Amino acid sequence: MTDVQQMQPAWLAGAWKETAKSFPVVSPFSGEVVANVADCGEQEARLAADQACQAFSEWRGQTAFARAELLERWYQAMLAHDQEIARLMAQEMGKPVSEGLGEVRYAASFLRWFAEEAKRVAGEFLPSQSARKRLWILKQPVGPVYAITPWNFPAAMVTRKVAPALAAGCSVILKPAEESPLTALYLARLWAEVGGLPAAFQVLPASDPAPLSRVLMADSRIRKLTFTGSTEVGLMLYQEAAKTLKRVSLELGGGAPVLVFDDADLDAALSGVLTAKFRNVGQSCVAANRIYVQRDIYAAFSKRYAELAEQLKVGDPLRPETQIGPLVSRQAVDKVKRHLEDALDRGATLLTGGRTEGLTVWPTVLADVPREALAVSEETFGPLAPLIPFGSEEEAVQLANRGQAGLAAYVWTRDLRRTLLTSEALEFGIVGVNDGVPSTANAPFGGVKFSGLGREGGHEGIAEYLETKFVSIDLP
Ligand code: NAD
Repeated sequence: MTDVQQMQPAWLAGAWKETAKSFPVVSPFSGEVVANVADCGEQEARLAADQACQAFSEWRGQTAFARAELLERWYQAMLAHDQEIARLMAQEMGKPVSEGLGEVRYAASFLRWFAEEAKRVAGEFLPSQSARKRLWILKQPVGPVYAITPWNFPAAMVTRKVAPALAAGCSVILKPAEESPLTALYLARLWAEVGGLPAAFQVLPASDPAPLSRVLMADSRIRKLTFTGSTEVGLMLYQEAAKTLKRVSLELGGGAPVLVFDDADLDAALSGVLTAKFRNVGQSCVAANRIYVQRDIYAAFSKRYAELAEQLKVGDPLRPETQIGPLVSRQAVDKVKRHLEDALDRGATLLTGGRTEGLTVWPTVLADVPREALAVSEETFGPLAPLIPFGSEEEAVQLANRGQAGLAAYVWTRDLRRTLLTSEALEFGIVGVNDGVPSTANAPFGGVKFSGLGREGGHEGIAEYLETKFVSIDLP
């Protein structure tokens, strides 16, 4: 039997466990089966929940310093295996290896940051009106956590949730996306190798997320849901979570606007907007989705932007020089095509791209896209860049704030007044000013409006996994 035919077991109840069924993970570039993975359902979910509860009492009992030490070792192990993880991501979801190596560093940085934060979870003593009373506030882990992650950042979306949860003293059951379970299972292997408490972190791949999720969502012992994915699924899970009053963190869809003002450093804006759009082939929740450029510089910007997009190297994600790999699925390709055709039908001009082969879509730039086009009003999640001219600063902010998304927005300007006023006026959780890659482990990441609830990273990230307890002590 080859490796591919052998079932990759789930990391369940502190051990590697095979299941009755398995499902294939298929490379979006070659179409070949990369692995067959254990397919977890209701039975595995019940076992995982019992184990997560047991592990929780043990894990929370360890000192913050001991938990921090383990996270730090896990961080080192991830960096030591960066090539393997980047290759796995390239195989299972098509991210170019060069970019995958960057994701490994970013993903690992959450382990280190929350190892540090674990040691800074502190309570307080409050002044009391009564000389006899002492008012003690303490922070405690919320309990076992159910985490659901998407395929677009198979390593970082996992560590961004699991690191703060474990740092706070919670146990975690992770359900990775069906497209990208291999990276998550590899992280579990490293967790076990560095001596992590086995059942404090469990990974349950599933071809169908619903049956397993129903069990965990209905279990009142699971105290927290943390989800990253589409707004549609997030809203459904939010309603489910209400039935057992779970704490909820939701990182949902983006649709980021970009505002390029005429006082911007044009070279910096071109390169920043290129990264903000085409990183991960546009499959990022903070990806630039609609690019508004001020009228005076619109023609020059459009021409040069299309030239730069055309130079991006398209190909096999396993080759080191590749910058643009395949999209994750046929549906993803169809969505890009639908947005492209809709924009062209409405009178947009194709400056470059539009070509498709298999699941690969060449970087595509459209000029003069009408504001009602699907590529502007919906999240494309692919390598399609619609350019739209605007006149005044006020109009730009109004256009940016249109719609339900509120995750990330970008501004290119050298004007301080404009920097401050637009940053304040934009209804988004993250604003990148002259910065196309604003996310970092030590800052809070998350959205407003229909882009989510709660924050990951920063001091806020660990607070999502802590309860506040008030102890009032009347001295005898
Ligand atoms: P998706 O919602 O289809 O899937 C995400 C996860 O939810 C997967 O693990 C999937 O198996 C699971 N899921 C789907 N249906 C479920 C159900 N009924 N019960 C339980 N789990 C279920 O999203 P996607 O298309 O894979 O991911 C892309 C979306 O994620 C985009 O909208 C993107 O903006 C968003 N995203 C947001 C962030 C953020 O931080 N805000 C980060 C990455 C991706």
